[in-house]
Amino acid sequence: MSTGHLSIDLTALAANWRALDAKTSVETGAVVKADGYGLGAAIVAATFASVGARRFFVAAAEEGVAVRAALGPEFEINVFSGHMAGDTALLRDYQLTPMLNSLDQVTRHLESLPGHAFGIQLDTGMNRLGMEWDEWAAVAEVVLAQHPTLVMSHLACADDPDHPMNPYQLDTFRKMTDGISTPRSLAATGGLLLGKDYHFDLCRPGIGLYGGQPYADARPVAQLDLPVIQVRALDAGEVVGYGNAWQAEKPSRIATVAAGYADGLIRAMSDRATLWADDHPCPLVGRVSMDLITVDVTGLDHDPEVLTILGSKQSVDQLADRAGTIGYEILTSLGGRYARRTTTG
Ligand SMILES: *Cc1c(COP(=O)(O)O)cnc(C)c1O
Repeated sequence: MSTGHLSIDLTALAANWRALDAKTSVETGAVVKADGYGLGAAIVAATFASVGARRFFVAAAEEGVAVRAALGPEFEINVFSGHMAGDTALLRDYQLTPMLNSLDQVTRHLESLPGHAFGIQLDTGMNRLGMEWDEWAAVAEVVLAQHPTLVMSHLACADDPDHPMNPYQLDTFRKMTDGISTPRSLAATGGLLLGKDYHFDLCRPGIGLYGGQPYADARPVAQLDLPVIQVRALDAGEVVGYGNAWQAEKPSRIATVAAGYADGLIRAMSDRATLWADDHPCPLVGRVSMDLITVDVTGLDHDPEVLTILGSKQSVDQLADRAGTIGYEILTSLGGRYARRTTTG
């Protein structure tokens, strides 16, 4: 069976990094966690490095290994989950910089890797990662004397510019960090777009680089073309797929397409998503199966060889809306079976 083709436009990736960088007067890093938002950490990291990114962020130390291999020794690779038990050898061997999240992590790091670079993550109200006010107050002086590379926090509601949580977290971050000489970072893509109060010394966008909301002007990066295995004619009243979930109301032509939920086309797309034959929309009908979807191509004057589900006609966010999710989930769900290639558009 021929698999889908996932094309990653390196020119668009580079343009998105440059465009976000141009919106601030401070340093711009690049978040390449979850295998570069599903597009391939090594290739996306190398692309961002080629246009000027110097600091990279991953979720787990294990993810830093591929990024280090792609970038070489010069660049800083930061790990959001900090220094967890069992991370010490990876952090040391691949020169990864943990963003320490708790007193336990600070102790572990300073004891097991004295002199090794680290940053600090503070919680300003999201209650997910980072030290809280009391914890930070107790150790700030000792920690800052060890010269962390970065003090950072993360915004919970930055995709909604009017959300009162944004100024609240900004104010809290200032109160926790004003007066220190360590570089500070608060903004991911959403925070970067909120304006310069949120920029501090470094912004660390992820999704906007990959063509996703809330960066409305992002250039699309991923195109996903899916091969049609066969096309069949149905009489009115015939049904399609598991559970007989779709029934033809009139004579129809149904294309069976080589991708399914095992490839990241989540089941919530059943009967909701649209695929494209060039400029013509074709509705996905019936349930998404593991390796296959079925698409109504009655409206076409030919049997298509390929249908496109991500591309110029449908962004990751438009597809996400149909499936009741977000562009982040569409991208990071893209499966390992696609034939991947890079393009420079
Ligand atoms: C994922 C993440 C980012 C990047 O966020 P985007 O919304 O993709 O720009 C930045 N900082 C932290 C702590 C993250 O977890």
